[in-house]
Amino acid sequence: MNDRPNILLDMDGVLVDFVEGAILACGASVEECYRKWTPGLYDVVKVLGIGEEEFWRKVESKGEDFWAHLRQYPWSRSLYDGCSEFGEVFFLTKPTLDPKSCSGKVRWMQAFLGGRLAARNYLLGPPKYLCAKPWNILVDDCEPNVDLFAAAGGKAILFPQVWNRRHAQANSLRCERMLCEVEEVIRGLPARLGP
Ligand SMILES: [Mg+2]
Repeated sequence: MNDRPNILLDMDGVLVDFVEGAILACGASVEECYRKWTPGLYDVVKVLGIGEEEFWRKVESKGEDFWAHLRQYPWSRSLYDGCSEFGEVFFLTKPTLDPKSCSGKVRWMQAFLGGRLAARNYLLGPPKYLCAKPWNILVDDCEPNVDLFAAAGGKAILFPQVWNRRHAQANSLRCERMLCEVEEVIRGLPARLGP
């Protein structure tokens, strides 16, 4: 049995800049949206001021390539590599209602890890809390995901973004901060009882 913890990294908002891609798909200005963003407001759709249906129609019209070609954040590589030093890293990501988001996300992972064979450590699905176990650490930018995961018995760290309650820490130091927090959580883990 491996004695390293499992670190489950969310994609959109943690490693992948979905928000930028979505704003551009809707024909809006990224700079303008961030300027008028109310800190703590989760939903980019509300910032854009359009309807939910119109938003997803525009995103989905870009097809699988939209998901495959989203930009990584400047810290994504350091965060992934840093977490890999502490434990086994898995992508844990929620697809949209469009099945093409699943294949697009897998392509993104394959490109990020440099090959098809490298990208085997992933799970796709909305109920992230089902992965909650004492030795599973979730890093996610979505408050309900983090709260449900912790309530279900896992360890969860909210990744600071302008759209969540840690918006004051959404700065250039957030990757270092996350790695420190992951390390701290690992130090406090109980003795391992199972895989
Ligand atoms: Mg996310």
